[in-house]
Amino acid sequence: MIARMGKATAAATILGGIPLAAGAADDTEKANAARLKVLVIGAHPDDPETCAGGTMCLLANAGHKVTCAYLTRGEAGIEGMSHDEAAAVRVEECKAACAVTGATFVFLNQIDGSTEVSVPRYHEMIDFIREQAPDIVLTHWPIDAHRDHAACGMLVLDAWRRLNYSFDLYYFEAMSGTQSQLFHPTHWVSIDSVLDQKHRACFCHKSQHMDDIYNGWHTTMEQFRGIECRCKAAEAFIKHTTALATLD
Ligand SMILES: [Zn+2]
Repeated sequence: MIARMGKATAAATILGGIPLAAGAADDTEKANAARLKVLVIGAHPDDPETCAGGTMCLLANAGHKVTCAYLTRGEAGIEGMSHDEAAAVRVEECKAACAVTGATFVFLNQIDGSTEVSVPRYHEMIDFIREQAPDIVLTHWPIDAHRDHAACGMLVLDAWRRLNYSFDLYYFEAMSGTQSQLFHPTHWVSIDSVLDQKHRACFCHKSQHMDDIYNGWHTTMEQFRGIECRCKAAEAFIKHTTALATLD
């Protein structure tokens, strides 16, 4: 069933009914119990922020624990720099972006442009997610023209199955049409109230020419998804349901 989140409902619920309020401030035990652990796994620095940064801000602002996991350090992402030099720059950019979104961050140890989908890498992702014990994971839609995005999505999908669907799995889109393909959302999140915060986080990734990437692609995507759910700007997701996952 399609869960379309319109303007009226988007303010009160997020990602299919997760309450935005993490709990009453005067009741610590209750608040902690209601606090969700949200893990956002992107292939490169800037993927979590550009693809799902508004949703991350909404969740973190509401008191949920948001962790941003970067599969690589974006080693191949700055022309004229060695892998080590580029990684150093981009790690600092991630730190700055996470300070804006309110997420904590962690780096996995794959290499930008050379990510692997293999038995050891599957186990690495399973172990990582098991340790994080998230309630929700947001990651790349695996049908993506960028190999690193596709690899990231596949690794997380496998971990979800091997961990017996212990978290809700949502896919986000990256530069749909050019990178993500065949992306037909099941959930929309209005990001009108945090648009400025999201933009500030994205533009922390200064080395990535955000004027071109963000203004050229993601702004249009946000507006298009906003039209679909009757707000100015939105992020869209595909929820992978266990019913679909267990068909085979
Ligand atoms: Zn990327």
